[in-house]
Amino acid sequence: MVKTVAYCHPLVPCEWIESHGLRSRWIVPRDAEASAGAGSLTGMCPYARAVVDSLASSDEPSLAVLTTACDQMRRGAGLLAEDRPDDVFLLHVPKTRGTPGSRAYYGDELRRLGRWLVAGGGNASTADRLAEIMARRAAARDAFRRGETPVETPSWCNPIAAALAAEMNANDSQGAALGLVGGPLRQRDLAVARWIRAAGGRIALDATCGGYRTLAGPIDPAAVARDPFEELVRIYFDHIPTIFERPGDRLYAWLAGQVAARQVRGLLCLRHVWCDLWHAALPRLKETAGVPILELDLGDEDHGGESRLRGRLEAMIESLSHPEPR
Ligand code: SF4
Repeated sequence: MVKTVAYCHPLVPCEWIESHGLRSRWIVPRDAEASAGAGSLTGMCPYARAVVDSLASSDEPSLAVLTTACDQMRRGAGLLAEDRPDDVFLLHVPKTRGTPGSRAYYGDELRRLGRWLVAGGGNASTADRLAEIMARRAAARDAFRRGETPVETPSWCNPIAAALAAEMNANDSQGAALGLVGGPLRQRDLAVARWIRAAGGRIALDATCGGYRTLAGPIDPAAVARDPFEELVRIYFDHIPTIFERPGDRLYAWLAGQVAARQVRGLLCLRHVWCDLWHAALPRLKETAGVPILELDLGDEDHGGESRLRGRLEAMIESLSHPEPR
């Protein structure tokens, strides 16, 4: 039986996993709040908690790849490895970007991941197989960028982000254009899209982790033919702007460019409670985005805060729709 390899970070390339003859799956976690026994995970961001809880209670024989992109996921990998040390791989992703050393480090980590996949039941990757899978996945991502809804559940982005994109494509509202930025979406976070629509706004940009912002870059077919592994490193490590990288200028520049190109009038920063990375990024985002930013703490709604969140959102959309005269 072909094993499944589960992950939830954009720097884990599905093509690399699949080129080892294994199935790749982007985790859509069950609600941690709805599950019992999360006591040891108190104080963890609800998304990381939900991922750990889903992996720990899964009946499916699967391997899991988590990353060092944030302390919470690193901690989650440690908790999972206590019970299933052979089934969990912690991919070290360098914070530094733009240097040959950090790029080589990422490549070495992917090779280490490849050896672990083989030890876990996969086959050795070949250049031909990797190139063929890269071409297929790149075509799927290109179609997604053009606004097409994936036919199958995607393994190359957060499936909830794909569901959000389908809603965005179906929404022909002329309301105030908003962008979402922040941590990964869970199923329950799609409620934010409904609140925006109900308040007369529309989502014109999904810059959450796992959504449009973190898609791997388009491939260069000539480069794939020459050396698919090098091209894999380029479209992931060189291309994807992430919240944890240093310096962080690339993320802020990317966001400002998308805000201008899509005529976004305001941003919602969706921050999972306990997420220090997005909390620390907010002041700089506010300086550089060029539009107002509203921070929404995901998790507040569990404590009777839903109406408060909705109220703040409605006030923002109202102010963007009817700006006060100067
Ligand atoms: S939302 Fe923040 S704390 Fe949670 S997994 Fe993502 S980066 Fe880590």
